Amino acid sequence: MSIPAVMPLEAELRRHLQRIGPLSVSKYMELCLTHPEHGYYTTRTPIGAGGDFTTAPEISQMFGELIGLWAAAVWRGIGSENLRLIELGPGRGAMMVDLLRAAKVVPDFRAALVLHLVEISPALERVQREALSGTEVPVSWHHSLDDVPDGPLILLANEFIDALPVHQAVMCADGWHERVVKLGKDGALHFSIHRDPNPLFEELLQSRIRNVKVGDVFEWRDDNIALEISRRVVKSQGAALVIDYGHLATAIGDTLQAVSRHGFADPLVAPGLIDLTAHVDFQALAEAAEGMGARVHGPVEQGEFLRRLGIEQRALALKRGLSPARAASIDAALARLTDANPTGMGRIIKCIAFSSPGLEWLPGFN
Ligand code: SAH
Repeated sequence: MSIPAVMPLEAELRRHLQRIGPLSVSKYMELCLTHPEHGYYTTRTPIGAGGDFTTAPEISQMFGELIGLWAAAVWRGIGSENLRLIELGPGRGAMMVDLLRAAKVVPDFRAALVLHLVEISPALERVQREALSGTEVPVSWHHSLDDVPDGPLILLANEFIDALPVHQAVMCADGWHERVVKLGKDGALHFSIHRDPNPLFEELLQSRIRNVKVGDVFEWRDDNIALEISRRVVKSQGAALVIDYGHLATAIGDTLQAVSRHGFADPLVAPGLIDLTAHVDFQALAEAAEGMGARVHGPVEQGEFLRRLGIEQRALALKRGLSPARAASIDAALARLTDANPTGMGRIIKCIAFSSPGLEWLPGFN
């Protein structure tokens, strides 16, 4: 990665840390990713081979196609003439392009669609506009889900929630302290903990996590996005599919991670120029959705979910008539998306869906 001599976000963060004091990890992550002028997503187009990380839709067209057929099947269950197809954080638009192409085999589904893309990054919005410029399906862009009108919906979010800020707290002898970023005597950014324990954390976390010892780190996200998605599917009929890196059950652990040029990086070096993510707590998502009256489906590991949707058959169909080299690249993509090794995408990425209570069964979930 080429780091410019003056990093505007780092300069701004230093001024803040010097004058006002430490920043919570959550605020640090928010500023690094979505600062209105210098945030990572505000200024960069980081996805794909030439960027910092590669996502499932960028690995193979099969991913978006299967999600498209999933959506068409769910739409039949919703039974509405018009459908808002909402995508949170569409990246380069690859999943939506593949989805719309696959949806051509279900013309009445395609004809029902109005697309709403929720994207904070002006740079990625431009890429999405270009990718979707040929489609006759109506599309509009929004900065927040709150700006999308209500109505029967299918909402999709692939690798979106892991980019939303997490709070971190560290257990000390006198209780939970917020984890913060501060300016060290050496002039570098360092992790530290807030001087005082936070009694609010005590209250918030005691129901979520037990058997904690000194030094344990616990992280959590605001429930806002899960609550808003669930409110919509319950009120307006519909379903939401969330696919992300994460763990099935709420647990202790620090998963904040920085990535640059397809490798791990130090989260405190080059703020605004590297990607920051933290794993999704699927139990917390499910509990928030259930609390709103939504039906929860899954979670299921991505490998299993894609196999249930027929990725192996799709790969076979795509390989027909191809040269051995091109067929091998389809096999490689299939293997990567369904890789069941402990750190493989097929295992570490999970899929969960929320629906209106009337939708009892969704494809890919038991
Ligand atoms: N879903 C895509 C991209 C994942 S990267 C894919 O699978 O390839 C995360 C995406 O979410 C990017 O498009 C990023 O710009 C967007 N994003 C991150 N934080 C956001 C926020 N707070 N509001 C809206 N979009 C956000």
